[in-house]
Amino acid sequence: MRAVVQNDKSRARITTAVAGSAALALAASTLLTGCSGDPAPAHGQGGPARPLDPRARQAAEHARLAAAARRWGLDDVPLTPPAPPAKKPAIAPRDGFEVDGQEEEGLPPVFTTVPTRKKVVFLTIDDGAEKDPAFLRMMSELKIPYSAFLSDYLVKEDYGYFRRMQAQGVTLNNHTLTHPYLPGLSYEEQRDEICGMQAVMKEQFGKAPTVFRPPYGNYNGDTLRAAKDCGIKYAPIWDEEVFVDHWEYRDWDRSLHPGDIVLTHFRGRDDWNGTMVDDMRRFLNKVTREGYAVARLEDYL
Ligand SMILES: [Zn+2]
Repeated sequence: MRAVVQNDKSRARITTAVAGSAALALAASTLLTGCSGDPAPAHGQGGPARPLDPRARQAAEHARLAAAARRWGLDDVPLTPPAPPAKKPAIAPRDGFEVDGQEEEGLPPVFTTVPTRKKVVFLTIDDGAEKDPAFLRMMSELKIPYSAFLSDYLVKEDYGYFRRMQAQGVTLNNHTLTHPYLPGLSYEEQRDEICGMQAVMKEQFGKAPTVFRPPYGNYNGDTLRAAKDCGIKYAPIWDEEVFVDHWEYRDWDRSLHPGDIVLTHFRGRDDWNGTMVDDMRRFLNKVTREGYAVARLEDYL
């Protein structure tokens, strides 16, 4: 109980501070993204409504995003990602993360960062325990792309929630049927976990994914062979993990790099001291502050 009260207090404080700096935040982000900030041209009174010209449309969209950022308590407006690359980067396994037969058998690569020089990171969200409607509203109003890695034992409680997510443009990917420690299972058992989830996703969401993440980031050669056999082409894991109250880093330099894949989970107050919205606020504030935009992982695969 005490923890909840503290949390609410600190949130109220943040919200107040943010409201005060809203005008500054808008001005700063206008500079960063090259929006002109010019007001939309006034329409003649009583004349026929004309569509906004591109500059005015951009300014209006920017104002809309700034208002959404204020509403969700962000320190600043999230940066707009660059257009998807015309030529997709070649994805190789991270050094030391390949398995025997990786190249010869064309097994799906396990990687933590997408090769790019652009200042983008990729947000990936796992499992599916928490189904928070406010999270869906937040991400759609702020236009933040992300990819979901779903495990059936959690999402089957409410496939409809994830269909709404999919309708907002989110790609749903495979995270097994029951979230086991895969290297402890036989090839056949691993194949059942991965192909079984492919079948569920085809049935529930209309499409079997080509992207799969092994639970806990643990896998062996059989995992990647089974995944390939189930139609999987990529097995991204992550370079950073964000929690509602802290970050964890895979690399010694403890910092974000261009193309990094960031992991978080569909979790709420049952699992940690905050909501999905609190978690996303922490994530977005840090990446924006460090000059990164959030891009769509599947645009680079
Ligand atoms: Zn998981």
